[in-house]
Amino acid sequence: MARLAQTTGLTDVQQEIVATVRDFVDKEILPVATALEHRDEYPQEIVDGLKELGLFGLMIPEEYGGLGESLLTYALCVEEIARGWMSVSGIINTHFIVAYMLKQHGTQEQKDHFLPRMATGEVRGAFSMSEPALGSDVSAITSKAVKDGDSYVLNGQKMWLTNGGTSTLVAVLVRSDEGHPEGTAPHKSMTTFLVEKEPGFGEVRPGLTIPGKIDKMGYKGVDTTELIMDGLRIPADRVLGGVTGRGFYQMMDGVEVGRVNVAARGCGVAQRAFELGVRYAQQRHTFGKPIAQHQAIQFKLAEMATKVEAAHAMMVNAARKKDSGERNDLEAGMAKYLASEYCKEVVEDAFRIHGGYGFSKEYEIERLYREAPMLLIGEGTAEIQKMIIGRRLLEEYRFQG
Ligand SMILES: Cc1cc2nc3c(=O)[nH]c(=O)nc-3n(C[C@H](O)[C@H](O)[C@H](O)COP(=O)(O)OP(=O)(O)OC[C@H]3O[C@@H](n4cnc5c(N)ncnc54)[C@H](O)[C@@H]3O)c2cc1C
Repeated sequence: MARLAQTTGLTDVQQEIVATVRDFVDKEILPVATALEHRDEYPQEIVDGLKELGLFGLMIPEEYGGLGESLLTYALCVEEIARGWMSVSGIINTHFIVAYMLKQHGTQEQKDHFLPRMATGEVRGAFSMSEPALGSDVSAITSKAVKDGDSYVLNGQKMWLTNGGTSTLVAVLVRSDEGHPEGTAPHKSMTTFLVEKEPGFGEVRPGLTIPGKIDKMGYKGVDTTELIMDGLRIPADRVLGGVTGRGFYQMMDGVEVGRVNVAARGCGVAQRAFELGVRYAQQRHTFGKPIAQHQAIQFKLAEMATKVEAAHAMMVNAARKKDSGERNDLEAGMAKYLASEYCKEVVEDAFRIHGGYGFSKEYEIERLYREAPMLLIGEGTAEIQKMIIGRRLLEEYRFQG
């Protein structure tokens, strides 16, 4: 039977990894996801299982104890995990972005210090750009680092840290004026600091407080927090890459692979919504036949499946482009935009197919309905993706009049 979202050209190793993750999702995630989500409970057993599978080190090079896999392998695993429960993919994603930023931009000492323990999941990453007054406009960051001897003193408030409580390493983007005089372009006076901390809430390191979990509409189970820096002292060797003023570019590089990840999540959630919709449509009868036999419902299923297929193809294309070493901001932006919009639409159609039962917490689609909107916002809103796509198109198609 033709199944949706197949990927051609995978190696045997890739096929085996993705099949293992799919099996784990079917056996360990799907049966418990909705109950855990309703209780807003952290999925510790699932996280332990993913650690055992080596998922936390999937893209970390083998020399640091990881599996050294590609972005495509990673994205396909994320797609499977999000099909089971999107929150679990969120637990891995910020970790993956921080590990990627370390791999790409860290000093040798920073890689040696963090990557082996990140590969095992002993050190867990979060990343922090957003502040209460900004998300899209990263250049408006007000949190600040001031040099003081061999260290920096950080002050300011951050917002929306996925894994803010459970992580032990946060990549924090702040403004740093040292060596960057007044008038320097905002994105050239920002620095990423590698901030180690205890997991949990309250004062997790002198000068660093994680107040508590933000209560959210969906995307439950995974903790999302604020972060308050009040005289937080960080040694100079914890500046990512060892040089100040490069933070904006490092973060944007991380977010770019993160966009492929969010696209993959959209694909996974949409696939699950399709599965739920197509199953229910064959079980529910109205006017003497299964609702799947009414053309209006069949057309809905056809549209949903087409969207699942298109989003998957764009996501795979964006991942492969990055893996080939090419710039992929256009493809990642398009994939993130399309997959998140299609995901919301497919989930909504599956919800409609469920009729009144879709509104009941007993049905899984209710959870998906509250999860899909997060993908429209995280890793850059639809408007921000369209700005990136538009700018790149004008570069590529510059009018030579
Ligand atoms: C559950 C969750 C988890 C998150 N996790 C993290 C995390 O781990 N780390 C982190 O740093 N951040 C995280 N974020 C923050 C997220 O990245 C931001 O919410 C997102 O970038 C949007 O920023 P904002 O909320 O400030 O919206 P705003 O930037 O205030 O935008 C508000 C609206 O205006 C639109 N808009 C803004 N600028 C323009 C423009 N120039 N043209 C047209 N329209 C525009 C936006 O598209 C949006 O519709 C998370 C958010 C959520 C909800």
